[in-house]
Amino acid sequence: MQGLDVYNVLKGKNILNLYHANTVTTSCTFLKLGGLASRGYVTDNGLPQTSQYTDDKDKKYGIWYDVFVDTVDIHDRAGRFKFNEYGPVLFVLDVAILKALPTKSEVLVTKKNPTKWTDGEPIDERFFMTPAELDSFLQRGTFDQMIVISTQKGILPFQKGSVSIVVDDPQRKLSNGTSAFLHAITCIETASGSSPFKMTKRVCRGDCRCVELYKACSDSDFAKFFK
Ligand SMILES: [Zn+2]
Repeated sequence: MQGLDVYNVLKGKNILNLYHANTVTTSCTFLKLGGLASRGYVTDNGLPQTSQYTDDKDKKYGIWYDVFVDTVDIHDRAGRFKFNEYGPVLFVLDVAILKALPTKSEVLVTKKNPTKWTDGEPIDERFFMTPAELDSFLQRGTFDQMIVISTQKGILPFQKGSVSIVVDDPQRKLSNGTSAFLHAITCIETASGSSPFKMTKRVCRGDCRCVELYKACSDSDFAKFFK
């Protein structure tokens, strides 16, 4: 499908933003590149990126050079159970970004999360194939339904004025004694250069357990998210 097809379906369901969460390290790479980059692009260019448990499957199933976004803020939606395991830095994009993709881009939406894909299954079991099918079944906040953006270069360029950043405050220090939150925002500000995006500290729902769950993380897992 074209970006405009998916944009029209999302807009019709009043989905106005797209979300992408990542670690501090990988997010800073995106800011330096000026867009959300596929795992493959970052790897091929030897740039800093935190490994993800999904990497092997992404390569195997041909989505290593694609950019993934969600229709909801996973931390906000699921914080009672877990923090967002993709990372504490959330990029919030205006859905209109889908109308202005580089030429020859394609957009698909998964029917089930690629971690659940199996070898040899038909493509129409993995993706919605038409705008009409997408319109019938897309439901905001269904974690299996991920928007997959393929651009020729493997980067979804940021558009000025239509990106903001939300950073988790885990209320925990890194092993060197610095506040993880302050470390994160300093890295993001440095990577953003002279024209930074609007950045805010996350405001959690009353029942969010992220602080408690971040506290329970091992030092190495915690560093993976925030360093
Ligand atoms: Zn939270």
